[in-house]
Amino acid sequence: MRIPTAFSYGGLGLRPVVNGLGPVTRLGGLPLSDTVIEAMRWAVATNVRMDELQEAVGIELARLLDVPAAYVTSGASAGLTLAAAVCAVGGDSRGVDELPVTGTRSRVIVQMAHRDPYDHAVTAVGLRLTEIGYPYSTRPHELARELDGTVAAVLHRLGGNGDVLPLRTVAELSHAAGVPVIVDAADYVPPVSRLRQLMDDGADLVAVSGGKSFRGPQASGVLCGRADLIRDVALHHLDMDLREATWQPSDITGLWPTGGREGIGRGMKVGREQIIGLLVAVCEHVAEPDRWVSHHATELAACERALTACDALRVTRAHNAFLDVATLAIDFSATLLDADEVARQLDRGTPRIQLGEQDAWRNVLVVNPLGLAAGEGAQIGERIVGVVRAASDGT
Ligand SMILES: *Cc1c(COP(=O)(O)O)cnc(C)c1O
Repeated sequence: MRIPTAFSYGGLGLRPVVNGLGPVTRLGGLPLSDTVIEAMRWAVATNVRMDELQEAVGIELARLLDVPAAYVTSGASAGLTLAAAVCAVGGDSRGVDELPVTGTRSRVIVQMAHRDPYDHAVTAVGLRLTEIGYPYSTRPHELARELDGTVAAVLHRLGGNGDVLPLRTVAELSHAAGVPVIVDAADYVPPVSRLRQLMDDGADLVAVSGGKSFRGPQASGVLCGRADLIRDVALHHLDMDLREATWQPSDITGLWPTGGREGIGRGMKVGREQIIGLLVAVCEHVAEPDRWVSHHATELAACERALTACDALRVTRAHNAFLDVATLAIDFSATLLDADEVARQLDRGTPRIQLGEQDAWRNVLVVNPLGLAAGEGAQIGERIVGVVRAASDGT
């Protein structure tokens, strides 16, 4: 094979996607800024000791995010796995080596309303989930009676429907029993103020995606929280196959992270470029949190304008509360097509378009502007009108 000089996805036979869906992993996340890409370029030019890099960047991130300590992971999901490992065995070297065989602390408590497919992230280290409460309610005693010496952590998510226990109550009960609380805030932060609130409410460890609204590398995330817990994350994550006779303490912290070797998080390694890319993306976000707001508004407005060409489409403004972004909801009930068929046609067409399908069961597709380039909002609107018109012309 010839080594490509000018790379394009088309050259590999791939059809690029107009991303009207947002920061989703199955489409590869969001575009990176030139500043982030440039930082990733210099990061890979030189080697460093990865423990020192993690420590130095962790200090910077903790300052930027106003949290006690931080550690760069390969995503929020990996952050949950590392958090679970630390809560199960801490920094005990035998514990690090023996996972996923856990010691006495072998359970994670989760409210039934907070169950999620990402629960695999915590069960992957050998912990069993204990569900408490019901799909729409949890009572304090249902948590309190589980909190014994077999519990490694409580896993908490945001936005559980109904009368569920808020983080503050979960943290009070858990801390009284000496159990830490892990929060999955993958798509809930930024805004950074929410992270501050989670810490104030008593979160011990919070896992956040780097590749969602922070616009960092897709395979990055940050685990934030208590300094003692964050310090032990490295033991489960870094490649520490080193010789004590020659390894020197860290220049950054003086720590000497020997104890385990390749821990259970080793398969979730993070490259220099992800670590530096995430740091720069977080810097950019903190410096100018509203940088993308007007771009998003322009693209949504252009999409909405194009959709007015078709009377049968009912278009309403909506808001994604997790990602904190305005969206467009397009209802196809009055057209000849259902939302599933529109989604299939948008995927087969040119340009290939993907939209949010979370409400497709009620005939609605959602346009999320986070991944749109200039002009793509209008393109999406025009394509949808074309698909709906073609169906009515065909009858
Ligand atoms: C996206 C998401 C994750 C996974 O985040 P990654 O950074 O892709 O690993 C975990 N939990 C929730 C609730 C999410 O939305």
